Amino acid sequence: MLVRMDEGAGSADVENVVRAIAAGGGDARVVGSSVVAVSGGAGERELAGLAGVASVEPHAVPYKLVGRAVRPEGTRVRVGPVVVGGREVVVAAGPCAVESRGQVLEAALAVAGAGARLLRGGAYKPRTSPYSFQGLGEEGLELLAEAGRAAGLPVVTEVLTAEEVALVAGYADLLQVGARNVQNFALLKALGAAGKPVLLKRGMSTTVEELLMSAEYVVAHGNPDVILCERGIRTFETSTRNTLDLNAVPVLKRLTHLPVLVDPSHGTGRRDMVSPLAKAAAVAGADGLIIEVHPRPDEALSDGPQSLTPGLFASLMGGLAGHLALENRSLAPPGGARREQRIDDIDRQVRRLLDERDELAGVRGDCHSC
Ligand code: PEP
Ligand code: MN
Repeated sequence: MLVRMDEGAGSADVENVVRAIAAGGGDARVVGSSVVAVSGGAGERELAGLAGVASVEPHAVPYKLVGRAVRPEGTRVRVGPVVVGGREVVVAAGPCAVESRGQVLEAALAVAGAGARLLRGGAYKPRTSPYSFQGLGEEGLELLAEAGRAAGLPVVTEVLTAEEVALVAGYADLLQVGARNVQNFALLKALGAAGKPVLLKRGMSTTVEELLMSAEYVVAHGNPDVILCERGIRTFETSTRNTLDLNAVPVLKRLTHLPVLVDPSHGTGRRDMVSPLAKAAAVAGADGLIIEVHPRPDEALSDGPQSLTPGLFASLMGGLAGHLALENRSLAPPGGARREQRIDDIDRQVRRLLDERDELAGVRGDCHSC
């Protein structure tokens, strides 16, 4: 059951609905201005009669809290001062792995200069081979945070285990769950209490519905700030590392209110394909991109073949701006959260003034003797 509240409903009204559902043996959660009965609860008629309730609808999807109907206007996730899921396309960029202070700083300054709004870089690397570079661990987190500060960018990095959530959250602005961990339910539950937003990557063999159920775990455990990421799936096709499923972008935008990023680096595994697929993803409606950039990809300790040079990244960003303009969209400029807030304030004022105008016009219209 999905209970939409009136715009003017207060928190006491919301609590009253939650209590009524609980009294009926159900379990209710609040998302934005909706109350969702995730199980059982009071009857439709009873709920519809409560103060502040605008409507009561059946809500049959299994991903109760992240389903689009719960918040049709979409969720905006704040990562420090950056807003993901707002009007503009946000690009996260940086090396696959943090390798040294110099490498991550060089990458950070380059991507920031080209218009990236978030710095990526792995300190804990999930590698297929136990003999491959596993990341610098906590030292890598420190170097990433330091480079982020120097470049003025919030940082996103992967957390591999539930036990390491608090440690990684101490350095990161956005906690990445990698493809291999998308159904690590202990990790997802721990992220519910992380106090930082989560970037949840689709697994290489998870369906869209499974991805949404994983997001549901994080939200159900207390963290509403989840961003999804399509990063390629495994198909019969072997000519590229993965098959970037761009169908998933409009599908996800229809099914969920959570923002959606696309990772064309892991999605293709090939430097020459990153730029075209990044543009395709943006045109398909992605809220942002996450792209691997290394100052010297040939020397990278991981994912060099799919990493862009700073020069290639800068030209991708230029091209992207042009493609987005055709779609009436744009790349996020600096100071995103403050701008979004101001635009929201103006929207609210305009709505209030229009209401006032309608009221006055209505009074005048009724006043035949005026
Ligand atoms: C990464 O972002 O470097 C990474 C390991 O990604 P994925 O989990 O999508 O393979
Ligand atoms: Mn990588």
